[in-house]
Amino acid sequence: MAIISTSEDSDFKNKKQNGQKKNPNLKSEETLKDAQFEPSLRPQNLSEYIGQPRLKELLRVCISAAKKRGDITSVGHFLLYGSPGLGKTSSAIILAKELGTEAKVFSAPALSQPKDIIGILLSLNAGDVLFIDEIHRLNKITEELLYSAMEDYVIDLSVGKSQAARIMRLPLNRFILVGATTSLGSLSSPLRDRFIHTYKMEFYDFDELIQIIKHTSKILKYELNEEAALEIAKRARGTPRIANRLTRLVRDYSQHENIKLTKMEDAIKALELFKVDPNGLEETDKALLKVVIEKYNGGPVGVDALAATMGEERQTIEECYEPYLLQAGYITRTSRGRMATDKAYELLDIKKQASDIEQMKMGL
Ligand code: ADP
Repeated sequence: MAIISTSEDSDFKNKKQNGQKKNPNLKSEETLKDAQFEPSLRPQNLSEYIGQPRLKELLRVCISAAKKRGDITSVGHFLLYGSPGLGKTSSAIILAKELGTEAKVFSAPALSQPKDIIGILLSLNAGDVLFIDEIHRLNKITEELLYSAMEDYVIDLSVGKSQAARIMRLPLNRFILVGATTSLGSLSSPLRDRFIHTYKMEFYDFDELIQIIKHTSKILKYELNEEAALEIAKRARGTPRIANRLTRLVRDYSQHENIKLTKMEDAIKALELFKVDPNGLEETDKALLKVVIEKYNGGPVGVDALAATMGEERQTIEECYEPYLLQAGYITRTSRGRMATDKAYELLDIKKQASDIEQMKMGL
């Protein structure tokens, strides 16, 4: 049971009794995001949601079963994990749309005070979806408040001072929590165990990215052919958010050049102009590969040694750099550490030394 001390019990009670819908001090981040970026790029329902077939199936089954039971609040809490930009927020918004309820989107670091999460929880209607991004970064008190909220739909507050203190239990509407994290391992097990469904977001393949790029270009009102879309997809690191950003850059170039139908060569020129790497790699990715090859003869090298050499946190290597490099086949993970692949040597135009080959054999 999470207990926080407050002398403002009447304030919380009033909020509940008045049926207050919003915490005036904390705006749902979705509102901010919508205003800042073109919101229509987000898929609006499950059929517009491209890729992640297993997640879509999971959502379809859970939503349909809950509707058949006549209780949409019983779909259960979802934990989605994976790299940024793979569609976690979009999934939560779609879940709410399919249930006919509202989604409220927040990021864990913004919920720094217990009153933040209490205000939000009290404002939720039955079946509303509460999305908390980077949920592994919740502070301890907020996390503990979520335990009883997720399980029993109540918040327990300790009100009053010392001997006069008493516990006040606030009932909540049955909401659905969608937690998102880039770091599953950083989640405490009491929190992780309270999610009914846990799903790993996958990177998108070229076909899926091409579909997203074409859909985005339609919304942005410009035309590009299949080959141009493939050039963008190749640089998108398997990630829809990056695909959308690059599609915008190519759109800008095409409109500037008065190109009616963007072809492969136009897309390449545009992406070169904006200095987008042909393989979608960033400087830090290449630096990591260089360290593995030049400092550790191609590996195997443990993640701690790699982090120390690069002057980065272990977590940053594991969560930010590695997932795509592994997925794209530039490194492999063996029981003895990370190893650079032939593709990495080719990319950096480095010849394998005899000592590298020896080292690699030992690593396998
Ligand atoms: P995350 O929450 O994992 O960081 P988002 O859900 O915010 O990712 O997705 C980033 C952007 O990528 C969205 O604005 C949306 O336009 C696009 N996007 C993500 N997933 C998909 C998808 N499956 N189909 C189409 N577009 C997508």
